[in-house]
Amino acid sequence: MRELRSEPYIWVTWLTKLLAGESACEWSAWFRAHHKDYDKLPVDFDLAKWTMEHGELVNSRREQLRDEGYDVYIEDENAFRRIGKTGIVVSGKPDILAIRDGQGVIEDCKTGRPRISDQLQVLVYMLLLPINNERCKNVALSGRVVYRTSTVDIPMTALDDAFREGFVELIHRVGGDSPLAKVPLWSECRWCDIGPADCLYRVTEPPESVEAQTDLF
Ligand code: SF4
Repeated sequence: MRELRSEPYIWVTWLTKLLAGESACEWSAWFRAHHKDYDKLPVDFDLAKWTMEHGELVNSRREQLRDEGYDVYIEDENAFRRIGKTGIVVSGKPDILAIRDGQGVIEDCKTGRPRISDQLQVLVYMLLLPINNERCKNVALSGRVVYRTSTVDIPMTALDDAFREGFVELIHRVGGDSPLAKVPLWSECRWCDIGPADCLYRVTEPPESVEAQTDLF
């Protein structure tokens, strides 16, 4: 049975696909930000397989960085909770923080295909992890998304005013009192765990393509 949260609470990954334009249903993020213990539906996602593959990638990256002389902190060691002046809480857990000689890199490991939201997730970590964080004091940070066969480096300059403004504006909307728009799309509903007690708009079938002949080409 769903309960209202005592304060709006946002997990970083609820935002990054919206920021990247890869998701459109802002209501699902708004609902999670304001409610807990809601009735959940199982989603079409193999969590055990993902956990194993992701863990292997994080561990292998940790060993590489240690071999290169970095101090490496992983997962729970990097968990953060930032409370804004509005009372909205934003939490996250970067996979890796590696520091050597005053240089640091925040990495997130991804086992799926590359997405823009992966880079935005690391940018949010670069913005929020250093706040009041002793390990990051006097460390020049950068970011990196690590895939199985490639990496994408993210310089601190990517953390520009436009990104900050877009991020803060989305936090205020997702953490605000007014419900946001529900956008039922099969491509999103199939990964959404919010059950029918709270959302009756779920799309359960992929859209049919309408076929027609044309002389255009
Ligand atoms: S089931 Fe679909 S429409 Fe309902 S909240 Fe989830 S993504 Fe949005």
